[in-house]
Amino acid sequence: MTAIEKPVPVVNPWAKPFWDAANREKLVFQHCNACSKNIFYPRIACPDCFSDDLEWIEASGKGRVYTYTVVESNAPSAFVDDMPYVVAIVKLAEGIQLLSNIVGCDPHSVVCEMPVEVVFERLNNEFTLPKFRPI
Ligand SMILES: [Zn+2]
Repeated sequence: MTAIEKPVPVVNPWAKPFWDAANREKLVFQHCNACSKNIFYPRIACPDCFSDDLEWIEASGKGRVYTYTVVESNAPSAFVDDMPYVVAIVKLAEGIQLLSNIVGCDPHSVVCEMPVEVVFERLNNEFTLPKFRPI
C-alpha cells in the first residue's frame, strides 16, 4: 500500500504571522484593539466589531481541554499510523479556542477540563504544528 502523505496547512496571507510564529515555537493569536476581543482563528477583521485594527499577541500556551475525541478508526488516511490519537478543542487561558491534538499521554487518559500546555511538532521544513500535552 502506498503511504498517504499528511496534509499541510493552506496559509492565507492574514494567517502567515501565526504560522511564522509557530515555526519559532511561539503560539500567537489576534487581539482587536477596537473592542478588546481576543480572536482565533486568524482573520482580516474582528468578527465582533469588524475593525481591522488587529494585533498579534503571544499566548501563555496554557489552557484546558474543552472537548475531545479519541480517533480509533480512520482508514485509509495519512493518520493511520498515529491511531489512537486525540483531536481536541483547547480553550486557552486567554479565552480563545483551538482545534489541535493532545499528545504525550495515553489518549484514553484525556478528560474535559484537563490542564494542558502547548508543545510544538515540526511537520516539515515549512510547518510547525502547535499541539498540547497534559501539565
Ligand atoms: Zn473588535
